[in-house]
Amino acid sequence: MTQIIKTVKEWRELCDSENISSKELGFIPTMGALHKGHASLIKKCVSENRRTVVSIFVNPTQFNDPNDLKKYPKTFEQDFKMLEELKVDYLFFPNYEELYPDNFTYKVHENSLSKILCGAYRSGHFDGVLTVVMKLLNSIKPGRAYFGEKDYQQYKLIKGIVEAFFLQTEIIACPTVRDEDGLALSSRNLLLSPEERKLALNFPGLLKANKTCDEIKFELEKVGFKVDYIEEYDGRRLGAVYAGKVRLIDNVKL
Ligand code: AMP
Repeated sequence: MTQIIKTVKEWRELCDSENISSKELGFIPTMGALHKGHASLIKKCVSENRRTVVSIFVNPTQFNDPNDLKKYPKTFEQDFKMLEELKVDYLFFPNYEELYPDNFTYKVHENSLSKILCGAYRSGHFDGVLTVVMKLLNSIKPGRAYFGEKDYQQYKLIKGIVEAFFLQTEIIACPTVRDEDGLALSSRNLLLSPEERKLALNFPGLLKANKTCDEIKFELEKVGFKVDYIEEYDGRRLGAVYAGKVRLIDNVKL
């Protein structure tokens, strides 16, 4: 049985009464609408830790577009079923007031990597991400936390705050899980129309093509994407595009 915990106080009391220590605890933060990408992180965590906590929290402070937040898919019943099937011990499921008693007057702000790539197009996005991750790591206190390489910039920034603020959690990167045709799995894929889903398939294909970033951008625009960026960073090629109104990100190792 996956036990649902809604408050930090409840979690701390449970850790005290059941003697749960950081060392035995693995954690996967998510925004729900769980798919096989999330499942791969969860499976790895379950296999490497005595106890696993998954959080589901659609973090409003990381959405720079209110419409994107409103439309973000919610599939709680299905998510909970997946957590039970994967033998997750605890679901941390807080609301906004619980995680933001300060109403976001305090934030974690990074001043370098968070300004480029996605950060250049989504103002304030990484302040929201880093702030919520800091809150989650400080309240759950896991020994290990698992993040997907699909969100490579996010992963690097989270490694960065752990180092900068001496957090006692090991950050573990997990490879990107893709659909059979190559599209990286994402909760936002649920929002694609059948035509947009077909178009989206060109994105991973072109991202790994043996061409320059400018050539890839040109080709993507030619087939119908709006392109935020295609850039190389840290031995990877990363990109963000729109298929219709749905923003997709992906990256490949060079
Ligand atoms: P999200 O619910 O989108 O915030 O994602 C929660 C975690 O799952 C993040 O660490 C993501 O990087 C990871 N994730 C999302 N999609 C994938 C995927 N296709 N493959 C691997 N990890 C993923």
